[in-house]
Amino acid sequence: MMALSGYPLGISVQAVDVVDNKIVDPVTKHIINNSLDRVIEEVNAITVEFESIPEDLLELVHGSGKLKPSVEAILTGADRVREKKLLEKLEIANCPFEIVTDVEELDAAVDKLGEKLIIKASRDGYDGYGQWRLQNQSDLPELKLKLSKLNLHKVPLIVEKMLNFDRELSLVAVRSSKGDIAYYPLAENLHYQGQLHVSIAPAPKVDEALSQQAQEIFNKLAESLDYVGVLAVEFFQIGEQLLVNEIAPRVHNSGHWTMQGSDTCQFENHLRAVRGLPLGSTKVTSPTAMINIIGCKDFARDMLSIPGCHLHWYGKTPRKKRKMGHFNLCADNYAELGNTMLALAEYVPIEYFPMLKDEAARLL
Ligand code: ATP
Ligand code: MG
Ligand code: MG
Repeated sequence: MMALSGYPLGISVQAVDVVDNKIVDPVTKHIINNSLDRVIEEVNAITVEFESIPEDLLELVHGSGKLKPSVEAILTGADRVREKKLLEKLEIANCPFEIVTDVEELDAAVDKLGEKLIIKASRDGYDGYGQWRLQNQSDLPELKLKLSKLNLHKVPLIVEKMLNFDRELSLVAVRSSKGDIAYYPLAENLHYQGQLHVSIAPAPKVDEALSQQAQEIFNKLAESLDYVGVLAVEFFQIGEQLLVNEIAPRVHNSGHWTMQGSDTCQFENHLRAVRGLPLGSTKVTSPTAMINIIGCKDFARDMLSIPGCHLHWYGKTPRKKRKMGHFNLCADNYAELGNTMLALAEYVPIEYFPMLKDEAARLL
């Protein structure tokens, strides 16, 4: 999606497959016969689309001076211990937590935080992977046994109090190399089994004070990291307060709606920022629902007859819980958006879209 948005600007994007150490064309998926060193030398800018980059590769690209956002920002997003330390240093409200490097410390964590916990591996987790939930203290011995198989001294656990929040929101915004910031509006995010299924943007029922609060948190983080590019901040809303859940130093799934719902999408704005170009307008063109397509095989495209329905299919091999693509649904107002979501529900294999109908009903 980043490569596609760069094309009209004359920016060509090459991707490094960090698993197989290959350079690929991200659109055709063809392998580009070039060495990593040559690519690093030839390109104007280097960026990341996920934060768990092997450290030797990260060091190598950092050494080129072309990496944006900075290595510090990427490492902060990749490691929950660093992330929590930054939030504490900047005095940004977040979820109460303990760092655990030995399973025996879990009893003390329960004493402090209560028996309902979310336990997160500090590295390499996404979409709810690398997480364990504790509902009752009586389940603790079994969980300790499971977690004792991990090397917690190398990859500690972040143990969080399970919060009873009102809803989840995220702020996606972009900062240029000159320090200009353009914010998209807050999106409301619906998760199912730890994975994002639906984002509604702009989030309904957001007043000026709430969006100010989110933007101030973004500013603190982005300025302290001297951030360049798109940065996403995930929040839990409790009453009028926002607590940061985590940050993502990259374009974000909860910003995919901007491909149809905003003047300039997050991918283009990220490219503009890392190439030192002026940022594009983040004005909302219509309320948009982003619906992830998760874990299901390809299907007929008949839903494209629905006005305002846009499909982004990623062409990946299907796997359980894998994000295969997404829909962006656009409408003139929330009620119409709800109806558009109900219309979509008639076309898709509904078992893969557990949030769709309920969320539609809330918007009507
Ligand atoms: P992502 O795909 O966003 O990177 P992740 O695997 O890094 O996800 P988190 O964002 O930390 O994980 O958690 C996934 C989801 O689990 C959250 O969006 C939220 O729905 C739920 N969750 C996480 N932490 C808590 C908490 N402390 N209390 C309640 N729910 C939580
Ligand atoms: Mg995450
Ligand atoms: Mg998250």
